[in-house]
Amino acid sequence: MLSRSTTNAVAHRASSMRRMRRRVAQATRLYCSTNGCTSFLIIDETAGIAHCEICGYTRRLN
Ligand SMILES: [Zn+2]
Repeated sequence: MLSRSTTNAVAHRASSMRRMRRRVAQATRLYCSTNGCTSFLIIDETAGIAHCEICGYTRRLN
């Protein structure tokens, strides 16, 4: 009983840590803010650019 609940707690902690990491990945999205634009840039990693579909702003990734 005790060992099973401990296993569940560990599994739950691992899954919540995965969720947290995914949230951090979303937080690294680039905010456009060009001329007060309030959308996020669409990141194209293969081309090495970030593009805004709203105002057409394109920025190079480092
Ligand atoms: Zn924009």
